[in-house]
Amino acid sequence: MTNNVVLITGAARGIGLATAHLMMDRGWHVAMLDRDGEELLKVTSGLEKAAPFICDVSIPKEVATALPQVLSRFGRLDAVVNNAGVAEFGPIDQTDFAMWRRVMETNLDGVFLVSQEAMPALKATKGAIVNIASISGLRASTLRVAYGTSKAAVIQMTKQQAAELGESGIRANCVCPGPVKTKLALAVHSQEIIDAYHDAIPLNRYGQEVEIAEVIAFLCSDQAAYVTGQVIAADGGFESTGVGLP
Ligand code: NAD
Repeated sequence: MTNNVVLITGAARGIGLATAHLMMDRGWHVAMLDRDGEELLKVTSGLEKAAPFICDVSIPKEVATALPQVLSRFGRLDAVVNNAGVAEFGPIDQTDFAMWRRVMETNLDGVFLVSQEAMPALKATKGAIVNIASISGLRASTLRVAYGTSKAAVIQMTKQQAAELGESGIRANCVCPGPVKTKLALAVHSQEIIDAYHDAIPLNRYGQEVEIAEVIAFLCSDQAAYVTGQVIAADGGFESTGVGLP
């Protein structure tokens, strides 16, 4: 058991919520941050080891306000999970600039802003950053010019963080989930995409939130003390194989 504190962004549902529960079960205190205040207050109500922080990670002022609130509530920060994300799919010629910016603002700017604000606290504990990218940042496919590009950038940001923050004792790693049936995925995965994933994934199924949370929790923990700069796909084997090809 631990008394350590983790900040999880996008914690009101999906992978972030599953990670919050898994880490609480393992003794962590959890700062649960989300821009959906209503949902966040609902899922944190009655939790002893968690507190809600309503914040949009893409807005610098809100992030600069939220991080001191987390520290004043918990007193320390041992890990940050940059999980908040949005997905909008479309062909390149139908991806208007507003859509492109919406995706970049949360998926990329948000990771940069939260990591930067958390740095002094993470230096004090020699803490960990875990950024959530996607298999769409590793392998290109149609419709994902904004989403895939934002996630590829998160992978590179993770490596930059590992390179620069290692001397402060901060580890930075990246998890690339395969498809998981969350609200985010169900909004953009057509039946055609669902069928294609089933065929192309060696384990022939979508992942579950908790299967991604397990990898995140490991990377936050002391068990991963010598692991930094890594990109780990939790994807049923999709990224590394050519299954589905004749
Ligand atoms: P989800 O939609 O279920 O949950 C995302 C949460 O993030 C929501 O609670 C939402 O309110 C919050 N959020 C979104 N934008 C925010 C912002 N600007 N500020 C604060 N909170 C914000 O999605 P999920 O599937 O659990 O996704 C979690 C992460 O996993 C995302 O980064 C996503 O890109 C990544 N991912 C998901 C899948 C998948 O198939 N579900 C696959 C690969 C990667």
